[in-house]
Amino acid sequence: MLGTYRADLHIHTCLSPCAELDMTPARVVSTAIEKGLDIIAVTDHNTAENIPSVLKVNNGITVIPGMELTTAEEAHILALFPDMESVMRLQEIAYNDIPLTGDKRIFYEQVVVNEKDEVIRFNDRVLMDATGLGVKDAIGIIHDLGGITIACHIDREAFSILTQLGFIHDSLNFDALEISFRTEKNRALTMFGIYDRYPWITSSDAHHVSDIGRAATEFIMNEPSFEEIALALSGKEGRKVRF
Ligand SMILES: [Zn+2]
Ligand SMILES: [Zn+2]
Repeated sequence: MLGTYRADLHIHTCLSPCAELDMTPARVVSTAIEKGLDIIAVTDHNTAENIPSVLKVNNGITVIPGMELTTAEEAHILALFPDMESVMRLQEIAYNDIPLTGDKRIFYEQVVVNEKDEVIRFNDRVLMDATGLGVKDAIGIIHDLGGITIACHIDREAFSILTQLGFIHDSLNFDALEISFRTEKNRALTMFGIYDRYPWITSSDAHHVSDIGRAATEFIMNEPSFEEIALALSGKEGRKVRF
């Protein structure tokens, strides 16, 4: 039976260089529950190493493994997956292009944490770097791995597909576009109405604990799962996305 589920599908952890250290797996999950979310996606920049700990904590909330991938054009795109195996495969591809640095003084805040908030290790890759994947190839790889892909924060003035490419070409088969919390719905409809061939979502892009759930998307679907989200984005059998 169809029900309504609130999803925040773009949340960083303390592994992202720009996120606060309090964004530990346990804190992310407990805050998401406090904010009444049913589903969260964990989407660190070009990495997925904190997701196993978020999955261990989970406490009844649905956790979707994901990544905010930086393409060669420096556009941010979300990749969401049904399981860890596929997101780790994308991480392997992304890591091929992202240099290691021996200088932990600069990158020490990229923290891999266990489910008890204990530090496991520091990631010393330059996670904010662009990967070598062009947008079109990245979308193809994510789809081949069984994932869905969403163009991030198309209303932002940096690192969006629009700022980097100028427009969204018909050949780019994103599963959805994301409008950030900054742009109110009616304004977004006016600004980006030409892209209404895609479903739209909004999410928090949380880098701080207090950001979690500041924007969320309602999905009308059978259960809170990756598979149902994919069906809702394509409008199958009464399922819907309420932006
Ligand atoms: Zn971004
Ligand atoms: Zn982000």
